[in-house]
Amino acid sequence: MSTYDSNNIFAKILRGEIPCNKVYEDDHVLAFHDIDPKAPVHILVIPKGQYIAIDDFGANASAEEIKALYGAVAKITKDKGLKEDGFRVIANTGSNGGQEVPHFHLHILGGKKLGPMLAHAA
Ligand code: AMP
Repeated sequence: MSTYDSNNIFAKILRGEIPCNKVYEDDHVLAFHDIDPKAPVHILVIPKGQYIAIDDFGANASAEEIKALYGAVAKITKDKGLKEDGFRVIANTGSNGGQEVPHFHLHILGGKKLGPMLAHAA
């Protein structure tokens, strides 16, 4: 997967072709509730730029875009009251990582004890 697929579902959300339950937006970032939440709080944070995964974002995004993404995570977790009890951020990447949507996204999960990092041992 080396070319960005502009038909992916998050690209459609960014173009306004599909609705989302928005949590936060700025010039570089959109965040919205996951449609199939795996925890009491499950929010997806995505860059508006066309990045396939975290490695593409880290290698090619501007400093402003990177700062905006992490700044959004800080703001959202504070606003949602997740800081005190903690939360988890996941970036599923590629086939082994279980990435389903090929537009870079961070999952913010919280609101309960999330258990072990992986469901199954190696
Ligand atoms: P990943 O496996 O990391 O690619 O995660 C993709 C996530 O996107 C899953 O948790 C899905 O539930 C979520 N998702 C898929 N379609 C939508 C949608 N239209 N709105 C919000 N979340 C979605």
